Amino acid sequence: RASMQPAAPLPERQGGLPVHGVSNTVVGVLGGGQLGKMLCQAASQMGIKMVILDPLQGCPASSVCHEHVVGSFSDGDAVREFAKRCGVLTVEIEHVDAATLEKLEEQGFDCEPKASTIMIIQDKYRQKKHFSKFGIPLPDFMEVDTLHSIEEAGERFGYPLMVKSKRLAYDGRGNAVAQKKEDLSSVVASLGGFEHGLYVERWTPFVKELSVIVARSRDGSTVCYPVVETIHKDNICHIVEAPAEVSAKIKKSATDVAEKAIKSLEGAGVFAVELFLTEDDEILLNEVAPRPHNSGHHTIESCYTSQYEQHLRAILGIPLGDPSMKAPAAIMYNILGEDEGEAGFFLAHQLIERALNIPGASVHWYAKPEMRKQRKMGHITIVGPSKASVKSRLDKLLQRDTYDPK
Ligand code: ATP
Ligand code: MG
Ligand code: MG
Repeated sequence: RASMQPAAPLPERQGGLPVHGVSNTVVGVLGGGQLGKMLCQAASQMGIKMVILDPLQGCPASSVCHEHVVGSFSDGDAVREFAKRCGVLTVEIEHVDAATLEKLEEQGFDCEPKASTIMIIQDKYRQKKHFSKFGIPLPDFMEVDTLHSIEEAGERFGYPLMVKSKRLAYDGRGNAVAQKKEDLSSVVASLGGFEHGLYVERWTPFVKELSVIVARSRDGSTVCYPVVETIHKDNICHIVEAPAEVSAKIKKSATDVAEKAIKSLEGAGVFAVELFLTEDDEILLNEVAPRPHNSGHHTIESCYTSQYEQHLRAILGIPLGDPSMKAPAAIMYNILGEDEGEAGFFLAHQLIERALNIPGASVHWYAKPEMRKQRKMGHITIVGPSKASVKSRLDKLLQRDTYDPK
């Protein structure tokens, strides 16, 4: 009978098989940390198969992915072998072998975002040069490769002077501050010397740090998440407030800068744009992450489409979801290791126990095999009817009288 016939031929994708559910495409992720884990959790809901490449047996994503391949994402051979299992390759960390990704693209493999994007971003100096070419507002910066050149930079930019490693940076590891000229040689030594590549940035006395997550689909269309404020402690993201408490005008300029920055890069996916807000309401770009980001954890509970689901939608070419918030306010608190080993687990567990009694609080525990000081072990997101209510619930969680993000 006519009603039994499909209206149109079934769309054919991988291997000519009809699509079952959301997508048949197997997603390969380089990296299996907490971001990879939350990507897999979003994929699981939609029945999307995820394979993970990560060197660590028992890495956070291993418990929720379809398959965990134990191997290094910075090893070309491992990445090439891994790619054969995947319909599309993506990353949850930028410190991967991007040269191999570029070769795979030449052979017709699908990498999202593009290898060119990962290459630009994984070298923070190259990233800064790229964005300055596209007219994105940035703190002044300069490459340094000798004591003489860094002293020159100190004279030009003044002190404190921010000294950064070009590569392999995360959680502020790779950054050091020189308070005066006399500190320069010890600061350089603390970053391993000039041979691995250093550059400096003018110190930005920001009033707030903001972040905007931009999603771009394969067809080039973009959507932006609400601007959030990120509060760092010892250079590590500690608290995220959503939405940021800034004027509509600042929200617009932050979103404009973020979107312009992402439009200068190639490929699909979500991108996080870390920004500084200065005293005179100027927005400067700090750095971009070509993947889901700590500043977007809250979207799991607070937005219609989480950044993780959005990343999958973007790289698979299915329609982008609604990035807007479904709750009036959210606050995200990172559970950082406060001590090594069992003592650290005990402290984290006390916090989790309190969170389980707070309305609107969701606990995420990454189940990392080892507890270390300052390591991101989990996070807690609190959603609620107002900014004031989520802040006071956080105060209750942290057993303090008044809200003080620092
Ligand atoms: P991430 O974990 O976000 O990748 P990272 O190791 O790449 O961090 P950055 O983002 O470069 O480090 O810097 C970490 C933090 O240091 C920033 O969020 C900000 O608080 C501070 N910071 C960075 N650059 C500057 C600057 N030029 N002036 C003042 N503070 C800065
Ligand atoms: Mg970084
Ligand atoms: Mg950063």
